[in-house]
Amino acid sequence: MQALVLDGKWAPRDGYEPTVAEREGTRANNSSAVWRHPKLRIEERDRPTPRDNDVLIKVRYAGVCGSDVSMTETDDRGYMHYSAYTALPNVIGHEFSGEVVGTGSDVRMFSKGDLVTAEVTDYCGRCEMCRRGFTGHCEQFEQLGFTIPGAFAEYVSVPEKLLWDVTPLRDAYDSKNELLRAAATIEPSTITYNGLFGRAEGIRPGDYYAFHGVGPIGLTGMNVARAAGAGAVIAFEPSPARRDVARALGFEHVFDPAETPPIEAVAGVTGGSGVDVHVETAGAVDLTYPSIENTLAEEANVVHISNAGQAAPVDLRKYQANTAQIYGSEGHTGDRIYPSVIRLMASGHIDNLPIVTSTFDLFEADEAIERAAERVDGKVLIEI
Ligand SMILES: [Zn+2]
Ligand SMILES: [Zn+2]
Repeated sequence: MQALVLDGKWAPRDGYEPTVAEREGTRANNSSAVWRHPKLRIEERDRPTPRDNDVLIKVRYAGVCGSDVSMTETDDRGYMHYSAYTALPNVIGHEFSGEVVGTGSDVRMFSKGDLVTAEVTDYCGRCEMCRRGFTGHCEQFEQLGFTIPGAFAEYVSVPEKLLWDVTPLRDAYDSKNELLRAAATIEPSTITYNGLFGRAEGIRPGDYYAFHGVGPIGLTGMNVARAAGAGAVIAFEPSPARRDVARALGFEHVFDPAETPPIEAVAGVTGGSGVDVHVETAGAVDLTYPSIENTLAEEANVVHISNAGQAAPVDLRKYQANTAQIYGSEGHTGDRIYPSVIRLMASGHIDNLPIVTSTFDLFEADEAIERAAERVDGKVLIEI
């Protein structure tokens, strides 16, 4: 089968002490400190053989994520931008939909022909973190498309416990093809869903939201916020193309923060009461946090989702004065998150299809990632 493989040179930075696990294998905990000169290639690989608990899926659509892009981008010394876990060479891609074509001997819940998507983090279920309920932070996790083979390939083998049936989406989409395109956008929606309703507390229908940065995560998040009964959704985004995608989704309060100062924009939309739910999905923390702090409603929630490396300048007194709180949020594992997003999409409360602005074939998957790196699209999909 064809697959898009990312490779790189194992070259820990001077002064960086690799962990024991990092020294033993080719798995990096901090990819930006270890991998140099990352390169993509389209490769002919054997079709994976599912283990006893695995399901073999014929991939139909796979979305390009910001993390896929940052795995291919480097600093001026050639080190990868992406700072979390990777084991290279690996087939990347983790936001996907497809059809079950084979099952291991112990698989019980899925059979051939089922349409599915998957969670990204494979957790052991045995370690202390798993048993305390934090499966997303399993001590022995693997991640599809990061440390184990992912979905930019004709086939992917996935542990059964990570799969979700997406056939309920047929209530919202006329064709199987549209259903599968939409299903490939479930994963990014779960990221904000987790931030807003898994992590933050006390968010209510009628709350005012502001999204700082509306790339794929911000855009899918705005759809989640609207479905949750937002009083208004405000978007700040420097890219004109992305602002257009936000408007095409039906959002009216869409601003270029360089042109309209966020304080002014928020005052106009909220009548001076401020933003109840701020969502940081830009990664430009030196710009976004000063705006966030000056537009906090009483008891505001600030949900931090981006994973930029630099530290944010945070004026704690402003959070204290507004009884506001910052919630860090990462991933999307467990906690009713996938099934809830699937219900919202099946009922028509969320439609992510207008966010998909470019589609590439698998044989041009490397071009799809270059295109996503231009940061003008809503979501770039690869059709397989
Ligand atoms: Zn992603
Ligand atoms: Zn575990």
